[in-house]
Amino acid sequence: MELGFFDGEFIDLKERRVLLEDRGYQFGDGIYEATHVYNGKCFALDRHLARCRRSLRELRIPITYMDEELTAIHNDLIQKSGVKNGVIYFQITRGVAKRNHAFPDSVVPLLSMTIRESKTNTKWQEEGIHCTLFEDIRWLRCDIKSLNLLGNVLAKQASHDKNVQGTIQYRKDTNLITEGSSSNFFVVKDGVIWTHPISNLILKGVTRSILVEKIIPSLGYTLVEKAFTPEFAKSADEAFATSTSLEVTPVVHLEDATIGNGKPGDVTKSLLAAYHDLVKKECGSLS
Ligand code: PMP
Repeated sequence: MELGFFDGEFIDLKERRVLLEDRGYQFGDGIYEATHVYNGKCFALDRHLARCRRSLRELRIPITYMDEELTAIHNDLIQKSGVKNGVIYFQITRGVAKRNHAFPDSVVPLLSMTIRESKTNTKWQEEGIHCTLFEDIRWLRCDIKSLNLLGNVLAKQASHDKNVQGTIQYRKDTNLITEGSSSNFFVVKDGVIWTHPISNLILKGVTRSILVEKIIPSLGYTLVEKAFTPEFAKSADEAFATSTSLEVTPVVHLEDATIGNGKPGDVTKSLLAAYHDLVKKECGSLS
């Protein structure tokens, strides 16, 4: 069952609750997180909560929730909804105030959440996905997980328009790939794994961090956090996208190019297997 949480209460998702002058609604003035639930447990929630705190600090939104409190609400949502495998989305907006661009005084941030069943696309993981390239037109604070997602929305729509599964963005001024529309992007070339470095131009994905800090070193691969061009990516041996929902999903086609032999590569497959092992260790099982 799906379930919502709004301003302290568990509610039906269909209930009308948006407040007209919520700054999240009017300015996109807020942040969000999405966490994967496996076997009735949130995976890597501590990392999501740490990123949430950072996003709030960067936007100077007062931090009015303890991690323990947010963790308890996540667990309550799982219990009350009965969801075993799904996604919990939460957002914190700066709060409700008379419309004016500058920060209002004394406003209290507003938390809302949803939980829904959802399944990882295992067909995509087994066969790989096709992606289009799209100019990255987003603002210069892509490191903040802000509610302003129009650049990402237009990027994702480009893949729908072209009938492919994903979009990889590149900056026109540098001709360098940044990330997917809602994922981080990696390539493997001559045995080396490449991904864009942490900067204001990409979101520091939780899945990316788990790969970079834990999985890649444990498997003994060489990683360089360095940006690369679309041409470099097209000539790579393997490519893959990472996110909470995609986990590690092979990219086998980029715009007009086939990556490697057009099938998920061995490095990508080993990273996904190791990621699944970590999920099983933390959540007990994958489903
Ligand atoms: N980049 C962007 C732009 C995203 O929206 C996401 C998904 N939230 C990611 C990367 C991947 O982040 P994560 O691994 O934390 O889901």
